[in-house]
Amino acid sequence: MAIPVQARTETVTLTIDGREITAAGGATIWAAARAAGIDIPVLCHDERYDPVGVCRMCVVDVGAPAYAASCVRACENGMDVRTGYGVTREDGLPVAAGRGTDLSNPVIAVDHDACILCDRCVRACDDIQGNDVIGRSGKGYGTRIAFDLNDPMGASSCVTCGECVAACPTGALTNKPIHDVPIRPRSDLDAVDTVCPYCGVGCALTYFVDRERGAISFAEGREQPGSQSRLCVKGRYGWDYAASAQRLTKPLIRRAESYPKGALSADVRGDADGERGKPDERAGGRRRGGRDADGKRRKPGGLVDYDEVLPHFREATWEEALDLVASRLTEIHARSGPSAIAGFGSAKCSNEEAYLFQKLIRTGFHTNNVDHCTRLCHASSVAALFEGIGSGAVSTTYGDVLNADVAIITGSNAPANHPVASSFFKQARRQGTTIICIDPRADKMADHADIFCQIKPGTDVAFYNGILHEVIRLGLADADFISRRTTNYDALARTVKDYPPERAEQITGVSAGIIRQVARVWGEAGAGVIFWGMGISQHTTGTDNARCLIAMCAITGNIGKPGSGLHPLRGQNNVQGASDMGLIPMFYPDYKKADDPAVREMFERAWGTTDLDPNRGLTVTEIIGSVLKGGVRGMYMLGENPFLSDPNINKVRKALSALEFLVVQDIFLTETAEFADVILPASSYLEKDGTYTNTDRRVQRGRKVLELPGEARVDWKVIQEIANRLGLGWTYSSPRQIFDEMVSVIPSYANLSYDNLGPSGKLYPNADPEHSDGTVVMFGERFNTDDGLAHLVPAEWLPAKELPNQEYPFVLNTGRLLQHWHTGSMTRRSYALDAIAPEAQVYLNPDDAAGLGLADGEMARVSSRRGSIVLAVRVSHREARGNCFIPFHFREAAANLLTIDEIDPFGKIPEFKFCAVRIEAADSAGGPAASEGLDR
Ligand code: SF4
Ligand code: SF4
Repeated sequence: MAIPVQARTETVTLTIDGREITAAGGATIWAAARAAGIDIPVLCHDERYDPVGVCRMCVVDVGAPAYAASCVRACENGMDVRTGYGVTREDGLPVAAGRGTDLSNPVIAVDHDACILCDRCVRACDDIQGNDVIGRSGKGYGTRIAFDLNDPMGASSCVTCGECVAACPTGALTNKPIHDVPIRPRSDLDAVDTVCPYCGVGCALTYFVDRERGAISFAEGREQPGSQSRLCVKGRYGWDYAASAQRLTKPLIRRAESYPKGALSADVRGDADGERGKPDERAGGRRRGGRDADGKRRKPGGLVDYDEVLPHFREATWEEALDLVASRLTEIHARSGPSAIAGFGSAKCSNEEAYLFQKLIRTGFHTNNVDHCTRLCHASSVAALFEGIGSGAVSTTYGDVLNADVAIITGSNAPANHPVASSFFKQARRQGTTIICIDPRADKMADHADIFCQIKPGTDVAFYNGILHEVIRLGLADADFISRRTTNYDALARTVKDYPPERAEQITGVSAGIIRQVARVWGEAGAGVIFWGMGISQHTTGTDNARCLIAMCAITGNIGKPGSGLHPLRGQNNVQGASDMGLIPMFYPDYKKADDPAVREMFERAWGTTDLDPNRGLTVTEIIGSVLKGGVRGMYMLGENPFLSDPNINKVRKALSALEFLVVQDIFLTETAEFADVILPASSYLEKDGTYTNTDRRVQRGRKVLELPGEARVDWKVIQEIANRLGLGWTYSSPRQIFDEMVSVIPSYANLSYDNLGPSGKLYPNADPEHSDGTVVMFGERFNTDDGLAHLVPAEWLPAKELPNQEYPFVLNTGRLLQHWHTGSMTRRSYALDAIAPEAQVYLNPDDAAGLGLADGEMARVSSRRGSIVLAVRVSHREARGNCFIPFHFREAAANLLTIDEIDPFGKIPEFKFCAVRIEAADSAGGPAASEGLDR
């Protein structure tokens, strides 16, 4: 890191340009001069990187035979420094020209002739993002920066985070225009400070907007305590989806002749399932699955075919569409009762919208049948955390990893799913934190681990019980913390006694020696923190998995102090906020129990109503099941796409077809919208104001960047229109007003307001937002449980629900790619993201691929008991033998056709991470047709 002016306590006195200056000992001349208001130009220097002094732009005369680079030279007592001196052009020196350009990356251009070899890009890539892609190649005047082994940038291991572009001072690395929107000087562009719309890391950024064109020109990371100006490829380059010509711009009503209801496109009907990879006459002979008949990639990626689907709808006025929504839902409610209505809200919408949506469902339809995608990501983590420590929020921030002696990262492909958070994990390791990575896949986080444990899928409980066993046996448990701060330790100790490392080895495949090593490193750490992702939560044992992690921290005293604690990395940008707002069937806002009469009375008073539902509502997966049994009949779906995101798509297809009435509010025609009676054109993130709460509990303001397209409307206003047609009489005039009401019923957000959130947002809880960023480390004194203690809950290992057998010998794991987001409706419409990752692939271990006779790029059929998809093979040394991985973003090879809809009994989360599949060449006999006979 750069040496700040006040880094040392001793001071030195020197003269700079004739002025006497006192600086802290060890301060550089550049820093001392800057502090005194004397500007010395720099190119290679950036305070975020270690100074190297290679560009020579900052050289000063210190009276020595050679000029000194002021960004690295320390001040000395009595030094006489001159910053201005005569510089004459020296003709005849060779000019570094002809080093070439590299345009192979879709969004970054490299002009080697403009490069001065200052190494800022190298340090940005290594020190900040931890990607280690850039080095140097060549000698003398031919020297140039090199990507990997001098590969073209677009073919290298570069992940297109753009940090090097942001660091480059000369224009050697620049952003390419996206969709021909020219990148004009900043002074010609409007700068709008907001937050990234993708993942729960919630990076702060600034969009530079060309108002003449009404389009974003480029994006840049913005300083904020969490993300510190960093971005990943999605935040920096993935914003153009909002300007897609496919945006919905008018309300749509299903035509009378398009009943009875059902899917409208061949893909969503399932007609084509099992046929992909074969020439498709309807597609002009192209192969389905993102490739042309000659096997080359076809672009753009598979999306709902508007030409096929839109003719089934007619345009309507907002009045007509909203009246129809209100009347049909009211009629179903009157005929079949409150339990016949359900709503799926969105973790992509703002806190204000999530709050209004759940309030509408609860006060307008008197049911708690309201849920969102948290059910599909961290519901089991939240169940365990509530039971164990009385709070579902993280106990510390991801940046606190820098204070940890040891960090366990488990069930989390953080470089793909939480890229900027992972850059802090990598940075922590460089500063001395021991990183232990535990995962069935040896993905990129494993490359940065000191200890990597490649456990067999679905064996987490056995692994952690083995660690707990050993920590206790070695006497490394914190007896004082256990006695003062926990309950039920004896039961936990009894259970884990049966998991000696040798037994854990048999179950997990990790050697007893490594298990012992991890136990010792963890048990001896002064401060240890655990980060986890959906590899922990998306199992039928997800709650048990998280219970083990809570026990890991609690019995070693690793919670409530800096560098320690529990952090389930949140998926969507506002899944933390949507949960805080009560967009869940068992909790009102601030996690107040929905079936507690006192809570109900409190909200009836606050909301001026008398008939809130006294029972918990149904979850996402239970609602789908209820529809099939004739329970739920009418649904309001805001920004959710369960057709692709829920398990066992064949079942979801039947449920969506069976609904009497479905209103979908979204920005694109999604697969789910094919089943809608009414489609309402919504606002994208970029077209509205609101607040969003990230994985760290940081509440930040998102700001309107672009105008709404056509007749699309802001979501909170649409919710209010429907509420008022139900007679609720809402009069909200701004997100700010909704926020103030929210805070009045959410004590965790106490003291926060639009005025004091500031440019960086604030962490909650926060006693003094005017002067404090908020609480980083929680539970220093007591937990949020009734007795203030952590409740330890022992768990026995249970096998997954559907184990491999001879017919289905592989274990399927599903998840996300770095470049794509959930069902792809945004990212597959982003030029950069689609260009980098255009097609679905099944990742296979090289030996498994060879055994199946499949080479990289060949088409394979993957079949489970529920369906069959065809997609390209990606041979990957990161997969263990017997396992495969399929990202779930691609409708043309929908991974959730294969997944099982068994759920965790506590969190009600599906087992996305484990089901049995068969893999074979696509042109072999094939598995069952996905659309037939697959009821389970
Ligand atoms: S874009 Fe990111 S990963 Fe690629 S070279 Fe630049 S800093 Fe490294
Ligand atoms: S890490 Fe997440 S929040 Fe940050 S830029 Fe990437 S997608 Fe956006």
